[in-house]
Amino acid sequence: MMTLVQLNAASQTQFLTALGSIFEHSPWVAERVIALRPFGAALHLHRAMCDAVMSADEALQLALIRAHPQLAGKAAIRGDLTTASASEQSGAGLAACSVQQYQDLHALNGDYEARFGFPFVLAVKGHTPDSVIAVMRARLANSPDVERRMALHEICRIARFRLADLVEEPAGGAVMAMAQDLAQFSESPTGLTCSYLTAAHQHTAARIRDYMLAAGLTTRIDAVGNVIGVLPGATPGARRLLTGSHYDTVSNAGLYDGRLGILLPIIVAGSLRRAGVKLPYDLTIIAFAEEEGVRFKSTFLGSRALAGRFDPGLLELKDGDGVTMREVLSAAFPDNAGSEMTAIGALALDPAAVAAFVEIHIEQGPVLLDAGLSVGVVTSIAGSLRSLLDIEGLSGHAGTVPMGLRRDAAAAAAEIVLAVERRCSAVPGLVGTVGKLDVPGGAINVIPGRCELSIDIRSGSDALRDAADADLDREITAIGARRGVKISRRRVLEVPSVPCSPKLQDAFSESVRRVTGQTALRLPSGAGHDAMMMANLTQVGMLFVRCGNGGISHHPSEIMSAADATTAAAVFEDFLLHFKAAV
Ligand SMILES: [Zn+2]
Repeated sequence: MMTLVQLNAASQTQFLTALGSIFEHSPWVAERVIALRPFGAALHLHRAMCDAVMSADEALQLALIRAHPQLAGKAAIRGDLTTASASEQSGAGLAACSVQQYQDLHALNGDYEARFGFPFVLAVKGHTPDSVIAVMRARLANSPDVERRMALHEICRIARFRLADLVEEPAGGAVMAMAQDLAQFSESPTGLTCSYLTAAHQHTAARIRDYMLAAGLTTRIDAVGNVIGVLPGATPGARRLLTGSHYDTVSNAGLYDGRLGILLPIIVAGSLRRAGVKLPYDLTIIAFAEEEGVRFKSTFLGSRALAGRFDPGLLELKDGDGVTMREVLSAAFPDNAGSEMTAIGALALDPAAVAAFVEIHIEQGPVLLDAGLSVGVVTSIAGSLRSLLDIEGLSGHAGTVPMGLRRDAAAAAAEIVLAVERRCSAVPGLVGTVGKLDVPGGAINVIPGRCELSIDIRSGSDALRDAADADLDREITAIGARRGVKISRRRVLEVPSVPCSPKLQDAFSESVRRVTGQTALRLPSGAGHDAMMMANLTQVGMLFVRCGNGGISHHPSEIMSAADATTAAAVFEDFLLHFKAAV
């Protein structure tokens, strides 16, 4: 392998020699990008080479396609494939086809070459002979132009996989480049929006799967759209370690929420695999399909399925266009059409086979930023109590009713807002917010007769939260009585907090100390995460990574640094190397 730094500094000849095997017998691709150095990430080099391929003239593109051998064809039989091609084809089982499969491939190869005049090209990583045959059959129906672009697209995927085994780079830069790359798949013309099973969402899943394949993981996409990659360990049958986070986003999202916890483990797993390190357990990386609840107003769909908590009623939920989740699923996964719930039900993991779930996530707050630390260890994920209040006073003329005779609903609400702030500020680890405050039908010259507001109280400790809630309840009753307004309060959500496993907290803290030389900061998570749902299945732990820009998240100005991602990757790798499935 070569480092990205070396590749950027290499002489012209060294550069062309190093990249000679990336595009089959076509040194012109590397030649066309040599002047674009330095590349900030291997992914940028890959994109530059693919741009060169896509913008080349048709004759050159066809020559590149024709430089590829037939799959399981004569070249494979004669043994004169390039080394890269030979190992890729044998990886997909093409070197050991059954007689029937070989005959099918041979016949399809013939039809294909007769129709298009070039060999069938497919990145065979993750394929089996049967799936190769199915793809070949489907692609025979393409028009020649579409098929040429499809072949070039596959050539670029092959290049991605070959490059991953050739160029070494710091984890942070790779993670940042991948997060940027995924952001191109968005359902909004500007900004990043990726909600459940839209076209953008499915493109994102396919790209994440390619990252996993490039890292050398065995991959699959399951019946709810989770993308799963496994780094097999040295001990078959040992309990598995699960990690991951979500790849769906809120509307107009930041680039790292959720995705960091997918990309960073993929990078770490890939470097362990290339270094020949065998963990004593299988490491399973899960890119959860849905956590934010944007499309169907129901959260944690991906982790819910794996935790065995997917309620069949969810399938009848409708999106904003009136399309049910069942319809969306059957379009995305036609093999499961009509038996969606059976397929999803079968995803529930066996708790006995799982050692733990750990999640890496950006903090989405300013605590690590204020403390000047790259990473922190999460103690618990806050539960929340949410209620809606309706205050009924008496409306009246803003000019004629004397102040002492008023029953002003908005003034009562104002007192409640301040009471929530005062009570929740009094105790560390407790937060309270009035996020909705309305005077329905209010007018500038009318005393508010009604006011509606929301209260959201969160804490890593349910006892702290419940004590604040009880105090506020008394105070709200007193405010109502004093002001002569009627206040009704309705609880709309009650989620208990989820403590992180003390053993996993200690293990992460030890890793932070070994890698950074500093004592780990432990902090609660104020936001909900997939780990909350996975806690129904197994013990959970979380590592937070510093968020820049004042800790802003769920917003395009969410940022983090490559240096922090590199530190987090080192901490995570250390954690993996020390993790005993029996923890
Ligand atoms: Zn998230």
